[in-house]
Amino acid sequence: MKKIAILGSTGSIGTQTLEVAETQQDIEVVALAAGGNVDLLEQQIRCFHPKLAAMWTEEKAKELALRIADTNTKVVSGMEGLIEVATAPEAEIVVTAIVGMIGIRPTIAAMKAGKDIALANKETLVTAGHLIMPLAKETGVKILPVDSEHSAIFQSLNGENPKEIDKILLTASGGPFRGRTRAQLADIQVEDALKHPNWAMGQKITIDSSTMVNKGLEVMEAKWLFGVTYDQVQVVVQPQSVIHSMVQYKDGAIIAQLGTPDMKLPIQYALYYPERRYLPGDRLDFAAMKQITFEAPDLDTFTGLAMAYEAGRKGGNAPTIFNAANEKAVGLFLQRKIGYLAITDLIAECMQAVSWVDAPNVEQILETEAAVYEYIAGKVN
Ligand code: NDP
Repeated sequence: MKKIAILGSTGSIGTQTLEVAETQQDIEVVALAAGGNVDLLEQQIRCFHPKLAAMWTEEKAKELALRIADTNTKVVSGMEGLIEVATAPEAEIVVTAIVGMIGIRPTIAAMKAGKDIALANKETLVTAGHLIMPLAKETGVKILPVDSEHSAIFQSLNGENPKEIDKILLTASGGPFRGRTRAQLADIQVEDALKHPNWAMGQKITIDSSTMVNKGLEVMEAKWLFGVTYDQVQVVVQPQSVIHSMVQYKDGAIIAQLGTPDMKLPIQYALYYPERRYLPGDRLDFAAMKQITFEAPDLDTFTGLAMAYEAGRKGGNAPTIFNAANEKAVGLFLQRKIGYLAITDLIAECMQAVSWVDAPNVEQILETEAAVYEYIAGKVN
């Protein structure tokens, strides 16, 4: 039995991880953590019988504990609860399917406890990659990418020497607003931005995909995971989302991973690496597909992608400023408190306004996040 813990079990990646567990039958779910969805976490506990479950607030944890009083699952809460789930003694792998940089501390705690990480929570790597990657080396834990593009790159690197990478070709669907000018995005409403052409995902990443900030976060994620420079990560728009990403080697050879858009594939690959198991679902039909097309990203419209490269190259806490401003701005957009273009405008402003710190430790990363939130609170009521 493979023993796993999931941070963010009630979300899009979390529920699909549990679907994989249900199909495979040899995964034991030992600990689950969720934010506020008591109903779903209760269902998951009744189905998978974890030893431990966490809700973010104490109030929700109490509600859950009452509801599952007839089970043997212990309920915990807050950051301590998340860390308890991340370090559950029985777990071998922790799936970080929580959204946002709140994942930093539990991820680091899991690694220090010797757990391999199936990493979906890209915000942690973007903001703390300079701490996470050396820690992985020091502790000997594996960081197994769940993000479909990074899983594709990981798969395309199998059996190859990473020193022979020429560049990474990170594919992007271009999102629902591909082909529009920035001015044409001014009136975009929440409902428009939540319609992704190819993937069904959580709200935050769906908005990030529409602004292409998600691709910017993925550029930084790729830099850390695969030890390349920003000049070696090239974004290629491939609207059908069939090629999940590619690696070009020094001799000009390009190795890619293709498939239908289904997150269960990268999730399952991360859980069983290096084994490949049967996964039910659609297969690519090249005859029916007829064409795969490519474009360069439009950096004038999708300024978030250009700013991500800038933040990544600047290093230090600049990626945290970029990421925290985006997290806050997306939250405000979803609450309809700011317009669509204000998301990237606020990122640009924060990158100018918030002080730069070199090589930040976890406290400094969290202080940067607080400084960004304070700056935005002063701008938006
Ligand atoms: P969702 O919004 O669907 O799910 C987020 C999960 O995090 C939920 O279980 C939520 O709990 C939980 N959560 C939020 N805040 C807290 C908190 N304070 N304490 C504990 N749990 C919390 O997001 P996704 O599944 O879409 O994305 C998760 C991560 O995976 C993100 O970093 C995203 O970028 C990445 N990713 C997602 C992909 C996808 O296809 N969805 C693809 C590649 C990467 P609750 O709902 O109970 O509040």
